[in-house]
Amino acid sequence: MSEHYNLTVSIIIPCFNEEQVIMYTYERVSKTMQSFGHKGYEIIFINDGSRDRTLSILKEIAQKDANVKIIGFSRNFGHQPAVTAGIQACTGDVAIIIDADLQDPPELFPDMVKMHLEQNANVVYGMREKRKGETFFKKITARMFYRTINFLSDTPLPVDTGDFRLIDRHVIEAFKAFPEKNKYIRGLISWIGFKQVPIMYVREERFAGETKYPLSKMLKFASTSLLYFSKKPLKLALGLGSLSLIVGLALGIWVLTGLIFRPETLVPGWASTVIAVIFFGGVQLLTIGVLGEYLGNMFEEIKNRPEYIIYEKVNF
Ligand code: UDP
Ligand code: MG
Repeated sequence: MSEHYNLTVSIIIPCFNEEQVIMYTYERVSKTMQSFGHKGYEIIFINDGSRDRTLSILKEIAQKDANVKIIGFSRNFGHQPAVTAGIQACTGDVAIIIDADLQDPPELFPDMVKMHLEQNANVVYGMREKRKGETFFKKITARMFYRTINFLSDTPLPVDTGDFRLIDRHVIEAFKAFPEKNKYIRGLISWIGFKQVPIMYVREERFAGETKYPLSKMLKFASTSLLYFSKKPLKLALGLGSLSLIVGLALGIWVLTGLIFRPETLVPGWASTVIAVIFFGGVQLLTIGVLGEYLGNMFEEIKNRPEYIIYEKVNF
């Protein structure tokens, strides 16, 4: 045991259909936790309504290892609610969030804790140097996503980071005080402030199984992060609306003066009419769509439903 740190550590691992990796994940995480000193640790697995053997494997692990705790959801609620449940339940002085698929190395934990202590950092966030084994499509969409969100967002968000990060008690308590239901966790943590430092690492290939983030979930994730973090889409919609109004007015004046001064040019004017109709129709639909998205999100929040429903807890 090389170093000893005087704090307790919680590891938070969301799992959805991870039967192929979960055992390896547990072994690597627990081996790392035993490789350095601390006052104690817990590994919280959140089973996000897996439809495979994930839960039964986890239960076997939890029976033998009292450091392992399980939160089982009543159905699949999604990655962000699963992480939220972990943050809300953890008891450590610091918590580390990590995916179940071993894309982020657990061996980094001691360094993260060390950075937290030595640099007085409240957040140590993993920053991806490289992404191995991810498809070109995933890389390019991820890249576009982070650039867009930073352009649109009112708070600057670190690029190329995931939820792999260490957060301390100050951040955990601040996070727990958030009443909003649809959370974009990495954005919220960035928004919370305190001292945040990056730790560079190479993002590995998924150890086994396939991505649990199909395009549909990715789009929903992108939409939450954009609309919850920024009012710029509303402003853009307003800008677009104003612009089209000006174009519309100019076109109107042109048509009216034409009626008076150049009546013969108006007969073959169907093209400009059609163009105008399509253009304004498009702008209006887009604007209404943006409004609708915000309205829908407000509806979701106003209903004030729980973010997730817990079916069972093990070792708590
Ligand atoms: N995950 C989850 N619920 C979901 C989808 C994913 O808890 O509905 C978990 C998943 O088990 C993994 C993490 O979230 O631990 C990230 O998912 P994945 O690795 O599939 O995403 P990717 O790395 O491909 O973006
Ligand atoms: Mg992954």
